[in-house]
Amino acid sequence: MSSSSDFDLPQRIVRAARKVTGSTPAVLHEPSFRGNEWNYLKECLDSTFVSSVGKFVDRFEADLAAYTGARFAVAVVNGTAALQVALRIAGVTSGHEVLVPALTFVATASAVVHCGAVPHFVESEEESLGVDHHKLREYLRGETAMRDGQCVNLRSGRVIRALVPMHTFGHPADIIGLLEVAREFGLVLVEDAAESLGSTVGGRHTGTFGLLGTLSFNGNKTITTGGGGAILTDDPEIAKRAKHLTTTAKVPHRWDYVHDEVGYNFRMPNINAALGCAQLEQLPELLVQKRCLYGRYLDAFRDVTDVRIHGEVEGRRSNFWLQTLVLDPSVAHERDAILTATNDAGVMTRPVWKLLHQLTPYEKHPRMSLQVAESLAQRVINLPSSAPLGGS
Ligand SMILES: *Cc1c(COP(=O)(O)O)cnc(C)c1O
Repeated sequence: MSSSSDFDLPQRIVRAARKVTGSTPAVLHEPSFRGNEWNYLKECLDSTFVSSVGKFVDRFEADLAAYTGARFAVAVVNGTAALQVALRIAGVTSGHEVLVPALTFVATASAVVHCGAVPHFVESEEESLGVDHHKLREYLRGETAMRDGQCVNLRSGRVIRALVPMHTFGHPADIIGLLEVAREFGLVLVEDAAESLGSTVGGRHTGTFGLLGTLSFNGNKTITTGGGGAILTDDPEIAKRAKHLTTTAKVPHRWDYVHDEVGYNFRMPNINAALGCAQLEQLPELLVQKRCLYGRYLDAFRDVTDVRIHGEVEGRRSNFWLQTLVLDPSVAHERDAILTATNDAGVMTRPVWKLLHQLTPYEKHPRMSLQVAESLAQRVINLPSSAPLGGS
């Protein structure tokens, strides 16, 4: 008789994952189109309004606002553009620094650089995989001074203007603690909620805690518009400005081309919004499936020692966008063997992103001690996460 201890860790993980994925190859995340996608796309083509004007954009924005509880949603071409414009509206400009986690997708930092500002990398916590507000507060108390209500980095002399937490793989960061830090240091909080559509803190949707929040509808996210993003805000003036800036800053007129500032062509095309409307209708069901999938992984990995399936913190609800296996520090050295064994077996797994301060463009950027982020980067593996794996 063989028992689980007869297998080495990579093989034990392959076996556990296959209890969930079955024997057919499973990709990391694929979209599912089981609702009105075809109908709305056909309606969009039949109307000829496939591009920058059309009713689906307005409807998608209204539906997003209703779903998230934000007063306003402005649909744009992708999540990176959403973040760039959100930061610009938050007053981030050249010479500023912006606090972003080192443990995030590269877009969080690119958006800062596109505003002419400098990303300043901050530490994450094991519990939520988000920014550690305790350590951040201590760090800012030691390294910055308040001058005229602005937080000045004493080392660089630059103003730190904003804080951009990110809800990793859909797991909400400790946004209440982070809001307190933002308040203490006069920072604008802009939430990168690209991964957390459907995730809530105390019943309130992620992306609605900061002055602005942003979403992504890229093909690998919980719902997709092909490519797309949105800016969320409760402030009517900000919403108006976000719409204006992302639609070439054109002043409405029957025929004149008057643009009153330098804007962006970041508007979401109607054909993408049509897909988004249908996907949003499916979201509640997708979230149920993703939560079931989490339960299935929990069961399957119950007897696998030295690893855990990342779960929720009390009071915070995850959308379980990407299922996450966290290795104990004692077996971190087996990460690449695990990635190889699982991918060889048709179970598509991926490590977390390379930490941003380790990428060439960001090597010399300011940062605090990143011990936990560096440890997590060696220990986090994403498992196949498509909603239908949770059951249909
Ligand atoms: C996907 C993602 C983005 C950007 O989204 P795009 O739509 O691909 O531009 C930004 N931040 C994070 C954390 C993401 O995962």
